[in-house]
Amino acid sequence: MTVTILAVFFLVLMLALTYLGYRFVIRKGVSRHEAHVGQCNLCRKEFDLTRLIERSSGDSRTYRFCEPCVRSLSDELLSRN
Ligand SMILES: [Zn+2]
Repeated sequence: MTVTILAVFFLVLMLALTYLGYRFVIRKGVSRHEAHVGQCNLCRKEFDLTRLIERSSGDSRTYRFCEPCVRSLSDELLSRN
């Protein structure tokens, strides 16, 4: 009887460890995906980093801008001239 209870306990323990390990792998996969995604500092939308332009300011902050925002800034500047 004791052996059966111990066997069930270890089986549940193994299943719990497998579940936790699986969740860890899934979470790592998500963070790896997030590493390639950045947020535009103007519109706050998320884009792939290859679609964002990065510029550093004088106080060593890095700003990212998406294509629609850059076009909007360009149009605004051109409309003044
Ligand atoms: Zn933007």
